[in-house]
Amino acid sequence: MAGKLYHNLIGGEWMASKSGQTLQNINPADRSDIVGIFPASNAEDVALAVAAAKKAFATWRLVPAPKRAEILYKTGQLLAERKEQFAREMTREMGKVLAETRGDVQEAIDEAYYVAGEGRRLFGVTVPSELANKFAMSVRMPVGVIGMIAPWNFPMAIPSWKLFPALVAGNTCVIKPAEDTPLSTYNLVQTLIDAGLPPGVVNIVSGYGPEAGAPLVEHPDVRAISFTGSSAVGSHVAQRAAANFKPVSLEMGGKNAMIVMDDANLELALEGALWGAFGTTGQRCTATSRILLHESIAATFTQRLVARAEALSVGNGLDDGIEVGPQVNEQQIETSTRYCEIAVAEGAKLLTGGKRLIDGPYAKGTFFAPTVFGSVTPAMRIAREEVFGPVVSLIEFSTFEEAIEIANSIDYGLSTALYTKDINRAFTAIRDLEAGITYINAPTIGAEVHLPFGGVKQTGNGHREGLGALDFYTTWKSVYIDSSNTLQRAQIDNAE
Ligand code: NAD
Repeated sequence: MAGKLYHNLIGGEWMASKSGQTLQNINPADRSDIVGIFPASNAEDVALAVAAAKKAFATWRLVPAPKRAEILYKTGQLLAERKEQFAREMTREMGKVLAETRGDVQEAIDEAYYVAGEGRRLFGVTVPSELANKFAMSVRMPVGVIGMIAPWNFPMAIPSWKLFPALVAGNTCVIKPAEDTPLSTYNLVQTLIDAGLPPGVVNIVSGYGPEAGAPLVEHPDVRAISFTGSSAVGSHVAQRAAANFKPVSLEMGGKNAMIVMDDANLELALEGALWGAFGTTGQRCTATSRILLHESIAATFTQRLVARAEALSVGNGLDDGIEVGPQVNEQQIETSTRYCEIAVAEGAKLLTGGKRLIDGPYAKGTFFAPTVFGSVTPAMRIAREEVFGPVVSLIEFSTFEEAIEIANSIDYGLSTALYTKDINRAFTAIRDLEAGITYINAPTIGAEVHLPFGGVKQTGNGHREGLGALDFYTTWKSVYIDSSNTLQRAQIDNAE
C-alpha cells in the first residue's frame, strides 16, 4: 500500500525538506505496508525550524502560563476523542499491540492534564532578605528554543513528556521524531494545533539522527536539548552539546532486574515477569531483561515461565488476542539474533525462542520468538548489555544480599523490581538498589506521569521527566527589590 506524503512543520506551514529526500515509515507487522512517506531533513531544514521557533518565542513566552496550560488541557480532551484512531495508527507504524498503543496515547492524555495544572503553579520561592526594606524572590523563566530528539518505542508518550512541560513553561520547540515512528508525533502536534497552539511554537523536523538530529544539537540558537534514546547516541549528543555549554537532558538505556525471593507470591511474580519481559516485545527502556531467582524457587519458576512464554501469541498487534507484536525493524531483529548467539557462545542455556519467526503470518514482518535464557551468570554480556527485544535472562542467587549485588553490578540504573512478602527486605531494596525506579511486587514497567522518571549511571545524567521536568525546562531568576532608598550592601552593611 502506498503511503501518504507528509511534510515538516515549520512556522505553522507544512513544507517539504530542502534535501528533497524522504524516508518510509513501514509497518513492522507487514513490511509491504507503507504507513507514510516523511521528509529526510537536513541542517537547512533544522535552521528554518529553529528560526521559526526563535521568532515564536518572542510572543509565546509572554502568554500567561495559565493560558498556555488551557491549550494543553484542550489537547488532552482532543487526544481522548482521537485515542482509538491514534492508537491504531501507532500500532501500524510501531508494532506494539493495540492495548499498549491505547496506553501510549493515554499517557499523553495524562501528561496533558497533569502539566496543565502546572500552568497555575510554576512555583518560585520567596525568602526574607538579610537587609531591611528589601524584598527577595526567585521566579522560573523559560529557557528559549528547546531541541527534542525522541526514540520510537513510545511514539506519542515520550514526545508528550518533552513538549508539554516545555510549552507550559513558555519555551518553543523543534522536535525530531524517531525515523521509524514519526506519524504519532505528527498526530500529537496536529492535536496541539487544533487545541489552539500558535504557529511556530512547535516545529517538526523529520529525519535521520546524523542528518537532522545532529544539526539540532549543534545549532547555536537551540538553548537546551532533551534526548531519549540509546546510551551510545546520548553520549555523542552530550559531547556535541557540551562544546557550547548547552544543557542536555538524557534518558537512555536499561538492563532492568526483577528479584524474586523465596517468599514471593510466585504466580504474581510470573505474571509480572511475562509482562515486564515481553510487553512491548521487550522494547521498553524499563523492560525486565534480568530475572534474579532465589535458588529454592528457581526450578519451578523457570519451568512455568518457559511454558507461559511459549504460549504467548505473537502476531500483528492490530489483531484480536495478540499479546506480543513484531520488533520495530530489521536492525532490532539483527540485534536480538546477535545477542542470542553471544549468550549461547558464553554458555547460557537457551530454554525457548532464540530465533526470528519467518513462517506463515510472520513472513512479511519482523517477528522474534519470546526468548528465555537459563544458566546465565552476572558476567555474561547477555546479563549486562541492553538487547531491546523479547529476550530475558534468568540468574540464580542464594542470598538477598547477593541479589542486590548482582542487580547493581551493571552500568545501567533505570528500573528494578523486588517480589517478596518481607517488608524489611522491601525497604532495604528501596534503599540499596541503584536505579531511578524501584517497584515492590510489581514488574519493572508501569511508570506514571506524575512521578520523576529517569535513571542513574549510564541511564541518565541526573535530569528527570514527569515530576522534575520543569526544572529542566525553566531557568531560575533571582529578583531583589530595594525599597529603602539607600544603597544597601549585602554582606557588608549588615555585618556585625
Ligand atoms: P537511538 O539512540 O538509536 O535513537 C534515538 C534518537 O536519536 C532517534 O530520533 C535518532 O534518529 C536520534 N539520533 C541518532 N543518531 C543521532 C545523532 N548523531 N545526533 C542526534 N540524534 C541522533 O535509540 P532508539 O533505537 O530510537 O531507541 C531505543 C533506545 O532508547 C534504547 O536504548 C532505550 O533504552 C532507550 N529509551 C530510553 C528511555 C528512557 O526514558 N530512559 C525511554 C525509551 C527508550
